[in-house]
Amino acid sequence: MTYENPPAPGAGAPEPRRLFIKSYGCQMNVYDSQRMADTLAPEGYVETADPAAADVVVLNTCHIREKAAEKVYSELGRIRKLKDAAAGDGRRMVVAVAGCVAQAEGEEILRRAGSVDLVVGPQSYHRLPGLLGRAEAGEKVVETEFPVEDKFDILSPPSRAATRKRGVAAFVTVQEGCDKFCTFCVVPYTRGAEVSRPAAKIVAEVERLAAAGVRELTLIGQNVNAYHGVGADGRDWTLARLLWRIAEIPGIARLRYTTSHPRDVGDDLIAAHRDLPALMPQLHLPVQSGSDRILAAMNRRHTRADYLAVVGRLRSAQPELALSSDFIVGFPGETDEDFRDTVRLVETIGFASAFSFKYSPRPGTPAAELTEQVEESVKDARLQILQEAIERHRAAFNASCRGRTFDVLFERPGRHPGQLVGRSPYLQPVQAIAPAALVGQLRPVTVTEIGPNSLFGALAAPEMTSVQRGREIAAGA
Ligand code: SF4
Repeated sequence: MTYENPPAPGAGAPEPRRLFIKSYGCQMNVYDSQRMADTLAPEGYVETADPAAADVVVLNTCHIREKAAEKVYSELGRIRKLKDAAAGDGRRMVVAVAGCVAQAEGEEILRRAGSVDLVVGPQSYHRLPGLLGRAEAGEKVVETEFPVEDKFDILSPPSRAATRKRGVAAFVTVQEGCDKFCTFCVVPYTRGAEVSRPAAKIVAEVERLAAAGVRELTLIGQNVNAYHGVGADGRDWTLARLLWRIAEIPGIARLRYTTSHPRDVGDDLIAAHRDLPALMPQLHLPVQSGSDRILAAMNRRHTRADYLAVVGRLRSAQPELALSSDFIVGFPGETDEDFRDTVRLVETIGFASAFSFKYSPRPGTPAAELTEQVEESVKDARLQILQEAIERHRAAFNASCRGRTFDVLFERPGRHPGQLVGRSPYLQPVQAIAPAALVGQLRPVTVTEIGPNSLFGALAAPEMTSVQRGREIAAGA
């Protein structure tokens, strides 16, 4: 059923409904939220940044962080007050919970939070107009099945105006779900089995984005380098093959992809890091632990040596590669020696950045059943040690950028007049004095200062980039 707006009394055009979407967690949720807004836009929904003014509030939730479901319930407590206030003004506010918590909790959300009208899992966003129509009519709706149809065939593309508003860097989901079943992770249960979108559909989406001004594209998926969508030749394409094809699209200057699994880094992907100029020298490659014992308990399906070997091959292909990673400390059974192995791995590899978290059990995952849980105080102490090591390497990597010249893709005005903010090839924010007309353009910038969270630089003459790069490469920078 497609929801249709009732015409406003005495007016030809329907009243727009105001839509507030709050996105938690990963880039896939950010992308999903955009596609929800794109799908609801033709139905008359207009986005608002003010939840109090919204006719529809969607919480697009994440199940990765600790006590994720509890945080959603406390947010729903706040939303309930807004809903009551709206009702006091004679306005009906529909509240929807989407994302991985919706998928994991289902009916339980309706039971615990009376303010919720709709619970919708990530595979059913294309059904949102109809589901919201039912919720607006007073029905309590739960949709957490894995439908047979492909939601990407039905979700509306963004309008040109919406794409322009979102900026020159965009995400495109190319793959969803995961078959790896790491013992700490809910993704295989909330997002389902690995599914790759056909290459032609991804290419068409990127062509539309590029025509609207997008210059940098990040291909996203829970296990993105397991991509195996059908290609133009009828065969399954790898992620590398897809990257090469997308690089041909006029206007696309930069490519990235995330999140990868070390086991799925194929030879052609490594070669792409060497040979495909649009592919940025930056890679997020989660390892989670440096201990083989813990990696096995996590069911990561790779060892420490496997990880080091993949990193070695990537760095041989692309010596400038800046690596980032994810770590979990205090996984059940982790000893001091296991933890020291993790710190040693950080010291050996020298990540340009990394995310690190204390292990916390996710209901329904095998690791949550393990009895050897590590004490919180031990986890706290280990996390602090690990984060100090990570921060040291991050600071060293940033410091190594001082005096270097590289292309920056300017994305938006900075905080100070005359300043623009962009991204380096390594994903660091870079601030520079530059004319506003350079938003959406790549320009060489020489890094002059290193701030805590961003680099500062000055525009270099265009010809400096290649010359300086040549010098840097010759000097082994
Ligand atoms: S590979 Fe990533 S998404 Fe898949 S189960 Fe492991 S942690 Fe979760």
